[in-house]
Parts: sequence; structure tokens; C-alpha cells
Amino acid sequence: MKRTPESRAPADAETRKGVKPVICYPVDTLPVPDMALYSAARQKMKLMEEVVVPPRDAATFRVAAGNFFRIVSIQGPQVGDLNLWAATDLSERFYSGKTRALHGTHLSTWDRMWSSFPHMRPMATITHDTLDWYGFDTFGAGVHDVIGTRCDPYTGLLLSGHEYHRCCHSNLTRALASETGLSLDLAEPHVHDVLNVFMCTGFTHDTHQYFMKASPVRPGDFIEFFAEIDLLGALSTCPGGDCSSEHSSDAAACFPLKVEIYQADPGILANWSPPEPSAYSRRHGK
Ligand SMILES: [Zn+2]
Repeated sequence: MKRTPESRAPADAETRKGVKPVICYPVDTLPVPDMALYSAARQKMKLMEEVVVPPRDAATFRVAAGNFFRIVSIQGPQVGDLNLWAATDLSERFYSGKTRALHGTHLSTWDRMWSSFPHMRPMATITHDTLDWYGFDTFGAGVHDVIGTRCDPYTGLLLSGHEYHRCCHSNLTRALASETGLSLDLAEPHVHDVLNVFMCTGFTHDTHQYFMKASPVRPGDFIEFFAEIDLLGALSTCPGGDCSSEHSSDAAACFPLKVEIYQADPGILANWSPPEPSAYSRRHGK
């Protein structure tokens, strides 16, 4: 829908629009991950566990702080929706919006997944991404976005009038309920905006609408994370498959994804410890 402005532009409209933007959160002062340490720790890491997420479903996994996990494409191009929580506190969870504000619309190697207030610390650091060659294409699309939310039954019902229960929001809700013993009603509010793993997305140049296109991921591709804190993760295999046409239905070809948990080389990380929660005093001006 193209909106027609109802207000008349002022005489200095072009001057106002011509003001140069500034970066909201310059990252010069953002603490950087110890890349040399993480690179060394992943050299001799050992595969400990594998979790296969069936198509149009979700599964949970746990990773101890100081270990690594990978999300791997195994049978065909497939997008995954990732949620992360602190293993012992579901109120500390991945904060997609702040991560976007700090790292941009799409994540790749050495970007971090930040947790919600009042914790605000890195939950995971991306240590390898076989799709980092993609960058941004001519449509403005990139891979692994933090601009979408997750496909959900509410928006589907609003737009189509039909209920669909295999969307990522519902998949993640069922998986979290099963993992924690919570009812579906109690588990649902803990499901949050995701990292859209392998999803290729952007905003259209003309109307700035959220778009998706066929993911460039192929079997063998993976994205790898260092767990900064003890994590509970949930991964949904999006019913959109490679998200080339539609989601929220059984129409798209859909494939499993694999989560691999790796033990880091313990000698390398002997002096490493998980990041502390934010030191903000929480006085809020009182
Ligand atoms: Zn989805």
C-alpha cells in the first residue's frame, strides 16, 4: 500500500531531509570478544552431542558456558528460528532489538547475541559463519537477520483468516513447554524475537517493507557460537523452508536442521570466566 502524504511539505523540507545521519550506537567503545582466545579454543574442540530438529518443529538444547554450538544445514536449504535463555533463568533472554541496534540488521562472525535488561551481557558470540561471504546483495538483503520476529499464528490469522500451528512461534512454545514442564500457556510468554538463522532478508528500497528471498544456505553450511553463559536454546525449522515463497503453511519444502554441541579445549579457557550482568546500579534517578 502506497501512502500519500496528507500534510504539505514545508519550504525547507529538502534541507531538513538532507541532514546527514549519525550512528545511534557507535561501537568503538563496545567491549570486543577475545577473538584470539576463542579461535584457539575452537581448534581442538570435541563434538559432544547432536540434536536434530525435524521439519516444521522445534527442539531445545543446553550448552554450558565456555563451550560451542553450531547450527548446521543437513539436507536442503532451510531457515531456523533461534531463541536463547539463561539456563537457570528464563527472564534473561536474547534481546533482538538491542542486538540489532548494536550490530546492525544481520549478524555474522564476531557479532554477539545480547541479553535482556537488567542483565544486558553477551549470551553468545558468533565464532564462525560459512555464509559470511554473502554480505549484502543488490536488493539490500543479508543473512541471519535480527529484523524479523518469528512466524506466528496470530499474524497468520490476522492476514489470512486461517490458523496454522506449525509456525516458529508455536514450535518454540511446544519445545520450551516440553523442556521445562511448563504448560503451553505459561511457556508462550517466554518465546521471544529470534535470530533468523540462514534467513535472507532485507527492507525493500521503495516502501521499506520487510522482504525475504531464497536462502543461499546449502547442506554443510553452519553458523557457530561460543556460549558466554550457561544457555538453554530452542531452534525451530521454519515452515517456510528456504523462505523463497511463503511461510505459515505446509506448502514449502522443509528440511531438518542439526544442532551440534562442542566442548572447547579446556586448557585454553582456564582463565576465562563468563561475563557478569550489567553493573548498572538500577537507581533509575531515585
Ligand atoms: Zn518461521
